[in-house]
Amino acid sequence: MRIAVAELSHETNRFSSAPTDLAAFARAGIHRGPALVQALRETATPIAGFLDGAAAHGFTVVPLLAVWATPSGMVTAAALETLVGELVAGLRAAVPLDGVLLSLHGAMVSEVAADADGWILRRVRETVGPEVPIVATLDLHANISSDMVALADVLVGFDTYPHVDQRERGREAADLLVRLRRGEIRPVAALAKPPMLPTSQNMTTARDPMRAILARAHELERLPGVLTITVAGGFPPADVPEAGLSVVVTTDGDPALARRLADELAAFAWERRAGFLGGVATWEEAAAAIRSVERGPLVLVDIGDNPWTGGPGDSAELLRFLLAQGVEGAALALIADPESVAACVAAGPGATVDLRLGGKTDRLHGDPLPVRAYVRLLGDGRYVNRGPMHAGVAVDLGRTAVIVCDGVEVLVTERAETPIDLNVFRAHGIEPTERRVLALKGKGHFRAAFEPIAERVVLVEGPGITGADLSRLAFQHVRRPIWPLDPIDEPWP
Ligand SMILES: [Zn+2]
Repeated sequence: MRIAVAELSHETNRFSSAPTDLAAFARAGIHRGPALVQALRETATPIAGFLDGAAAHGFTVVPLLAVWATPSGMVTAAALETLVGELVAGLRAAVPLDGVLLSLHGAMVSEVAADADGWILRRVRETVGPEVPIVATLDLHANISSDMVALADVLVGFDTYPHVDQRERGREAADLLVRLRRGEIRPVAALAKPPMLPTSQNMTTARDPMRAILARAHELERLPGVLTITVAGGFPPADVPEAGLSVVVTTDGDPALARRLADELAAFAWERRAGFLGGVATWEEAAAAIRSVERGPLVLVDIGDNPWTGGPGDSAELLRFLLAQGVEGAALALIADPESVAACVAAGPGATVDLRLGGKTDRLHGDPLPVRAYVRLLGDGRYVNRGPMHAGVAVDLGRTAVIVCDGVEVLVTERAETPIDLNVFRAHGIEPTERRVLALKGKGHFRAAFEPIAERVVLVEGPGITGADLSRLAFQHVRRPIWPLDPIDEPWP
């Protein structure tokens, strides 16, 4: 058996002012051919799970392309057409194929198509024909469309947020593909989309309502005839008609069962929708939390400028807040500001510099913060995640500087990434367990590594395009009415 393997993944925030062009994908790193296997073999990603499946079932992997870029604005036509053109050419050259395993996100938006993942699947389907099975993994934040369901034979979404089961879901996808190719199963899927657009600060799967929804999904998955069930919470700032929570139930040749269970599980989620609201502290509550820290660390997270939701990562508002509180023993990751990094590099370690820190990308993430800073350390911004999430994955923040402003250590970077791993600090000479306050930008993924060391976690929402307050975003394309933008009291369906 010869199975093509590829990843083409992006979470697109339509409110971001940074278009996602080919250079953005290239900066994140494009792996081609055998280099893909080498780069991702021992990582906590779907591709590694595909490779696990190959080892277990003895199929031959045809590695084509793996690319992922940090969430940002609309994917340009040139970028998507180039990358998919390369993927299609690879598939043509690899014929005959017994199947295709794809790692997609499910919330990509492009100038080519608002439902970019559906568009990619259509191109792949047109290339390999109707008989070659296509199985794709999706992120838990996918906005699943009926095209995606129709064009793939099976969709397998992550079951965890933080997404620590990516490799397992990749393996599940490979197992289903092999069974499908052998003619052991005949997958049919139903998609249910209640009119709900939850934000993700309360979507982590260790807590309700997602804990209960996924527990129910796993119960239903054990019923005879059910192959796999995906619950995707959705990604509101993609601003597409498909944005919002989706349930996909795939059964073995039983469309009526798939339909009934998808509707039942979607109704279960709909009834619990109020649980997705809230979870964000006021700045006053955050100040009180800082005053009551015992040993620490208090993990204080600004959800308004989260790079992995498409934020520029250059808001300085969390630092402004910490300085106003006169906090001792705090470390902040991160503020993306290439100009300030260049100034620190020019001055050198041990120098004192005057910076206008952050707030430069747009007018939505606060003003630049004037600081007098001591340059403690310069770095290359490269480290490997220890996990659990994205264990083994290499991170590149560009050049970095650790500066100290009134006792607060601040990681300033050339590139924006969400700090999800303790190594973001350790690679920069900061031991996170020894700080009273760790200030981060994020939403939920930080919890995998930081919750176990945290005395307490507090979320706040600074200015920006990635938070829980959807009234800040001028939606144009989401379907209406949709909760919570519109009050809907009726049961669903
Ligand atoms: Zn996600």
